[in-house]
Amino acid sequence: MLNEQQTLITEAARRFVRERIIDTKLDQTLDQSGAFPHEILRELWAQGLVNLEFPEAVGGPALSCHDHVLVLEELNYGCLGIGTSAVANSLAGLPLQMCSNEAVRKKYLGRLMSEPAYAAFACSEPDAGSDVANMSTRYERRGDTLILNGRKRWITNADVADFYVVFAREQGSKGHHGISALVVDAGTPGLRWESLIKKLGQRCSHTGDVVFEDVEVPVANLMAGPEHGFRLAMATFDRSRPWIAAGAAGVIRRARDEAVAYAMQRKAFGEPIINHQMVAAMLADMEIAYQATRLLTLNAALEVDAGNLRGSHSACAKAFGGDAAMKATTDAVQVFGGYGYTQDFIVEKLMRDAKLLQIYEGTSQIQRLVIARDLMRAHG
Ligand SMILES: Cc1cc2nc3c(=O)[nH]c(=O)nc-3n(C[C@H](O)[C@H](O)[C@H](O)COP(=O)(O)OP(=O)(O)OC[C@H]3O[C@@H](n4cnc5c(N)ncnc54)[C@H](O)[C@@H]3O)c2cc1C
Repeated sequence: MLNEQQTLITEAARRFVRERIIDTKLDQTLDQSGAFPHEILRELWAQGLVNLEFPEAVGGPALSCHDHVLVLEELNYGCLGIGTSAVANSLAGLPLQMCSNEAVRKKYLGRLMSEPAYAAFACSEPDAGSDVANMSTRYERRGDTLILNGRKRWITNADVADFYVVFAREQGSKGHHGISALVVDAGTPGLRWESLIKKLGQRCSHTGDVVFEDVEVPVANLMAGPEHGFRLAMATFDRSRPWIAAGAAGVIRRARDEAVAYAMQRKAFGEPIINHQMVAAMLADMEIAYQATRLLTLNAALEVDAGNLRGSHSACAKAFGGDAAMKATTDAVQVFGGYGYTQDFIVEKLMRDAKLLQIYEGTSQIQRLVIARDLMRAHG
């Protein structure tokens, strides 16, 4: 059951997606052009449909994770690329929300609330994706300044971010112990983005490298010191994975709706194909996938809201949702037959977009590691 506020915000998001993304075919246009969805993101910001969990102390609406996943499911029903771009600020915002540096929290989260600015979460590197503790971006302390050097890869919002939440190690440290978190303003001398990546899907969400060459960052911008940065990164993933699972629920529901509508009007052997049991079974599987993903997402979101999130439950939602979305969207292409394999219909885009759900914020394999380790702890 949704409360009144949840019903209102879900309906507002659904209406926005229908009118601004689906009816206008903006999802397909942006997929083809690869243009960043500035206008849509500004509208979402103006309507209060982003940054939903930011606290009141920074001017945020302080909505619950449950509220947030409801909205994210709707946005991602419209377009996973837009959904990823829309949630990127919240992803970068999580370490700021959870860190103990109140001044940076107020300054940077406050900025995202007071203007339609962009942020990026910069953890992954060319040689350290799953293996976060192997990162090589490093800083050296000189008085009140940190001198930052290195290269981050796969960074969502790399080219548009007004600031970057960066994970980097203290010079000379090894493994997860030396990793800190700091916030760096775009435009700081020595910082540049480069090589936007041409992607299989989610093309309107921009992904690129962020390079640091002797970038001077005030010590005041340190969010978490060497003993705390790695844990902050892991805690961020625990909190953000329900959002990705909500995206999976959205794209599964879209694939289901597109496939059912097509199967009801397309005829083969003198009958609408929905009457052929093997087609109907694919549609039923999509519904099962949607319901299960939604429930796992809700379970993790409710744990977040109750303050007792178990990281493996976020991982279950993300792993199941990502895999289920890949299967549901692939089956949607199958239901469309040859037409599904063309750009004339949306389902091929849904399939390309969905693949990323199994990769970013921890691959499906890494989720299983998180889950298995939790099982071992529980039974140890
Ligand atoms: C479009 C896009 C946007 C992204 N956005 C961001 C962002 O905003 N910020 C950010 O910091 N990062 C971002 N990422 C990075 C993303 O989180 C990493 O790509 C992901 O964590 C995987 O790391 P990798 O690509 O280095 O793969 P690898 O770590 O090299 O993994 C390769 C393969 O090996 C498997 N593997 C690795 N280790 C194990 C193991 N121990 N057990 C079993 N299997 C294993 C993986 O599952 C995978 O199948 C983004 C990535 C993409 C593609």
